Amino acid sequence: MKSTVIAIDGPAGAGKTTLAKLLAERLGLLYIDTGAMYRSLTWKILQLGINFNNKDLVIDLSRKVDIILRPNGKDLKIFINGDEVTDLIRTPEVTENTFYVAQIKEVREEMVKKQRSFVKENRVIMEGRDIGTVVFPEADKKIYLDAQLSERVNRRFKEFKAKGFEYTTSKIEQELAERDKKDKTRLYGPLKIADDAVYLDTTNLNIPEMVEEALRVINS
Ligand code: C5P
Repeated sequence: MKSTVIAIDGPAGAGKTTLAKLLAERLGLLYIDTGAMYRSLTWKILQLGINFNNKDLVIDLSRKVDIILRPNGKDLKIFINGDEVTDLIRTPEVTENTFYVAQIKEVREEMVKKQRSFVKENRVIMEGRDIGTVVFPEADKKIYLDAQLSERVNRRFKEFKAKGFEYTTSKIEQELAERDKKDKTRLYGPLKIADDAVYLDTTNLNIPEMVEEALRVINS
């Protein structure tokens, strides 16, 4: 059977996770969150007290760690070296430090290798920043999901509030804008629109509308 890959890339807060999970359910695909892999490695480095500037140690660790994304209903459970980190990798500390590992060429090569290995016997929907450009340039369908910054800030604000985190919208805006800039300007695997990706702006779409638009792209 030919493997199927649907790639979803885009900036933070554009709706990639929501969309990918819903499409996975609808189309019977395995959902893979590649951001969780960079986050897990970041968590492990913080846990071990390794200095992020110690590139050799970070690279070495990226080659040794065992990262598992285990399907759990509509979600994923994330493990690194046997420790469950599903919620632990969503803290501001991890979010703010992930760029250190994500900018290193050798770390990205290692993550890409792991990401490709998930596909061997699966039909997959994978979300991230470089899926359509680097991980699977031959993906069957590529969607670049975007939304205006103000709308992404609103969505994150609601998400955080529901989880009981108190962040101001200006703090969220600053964090998202800085992260987008770092993701778009790094040398290796930067966030950009693949030539053959379909650009989907979700600023004015609710969730069912976003899913319908994406299904239209996938079925076209
Ligand atoms: O998708 P998420 O916001 O969880 O990703 C966290 C960070 O991981 C991103 O801001 C980016 O720096 C990095 N990342 C990446 N390449 C991917 C997925 C995520 O560099 N494919």
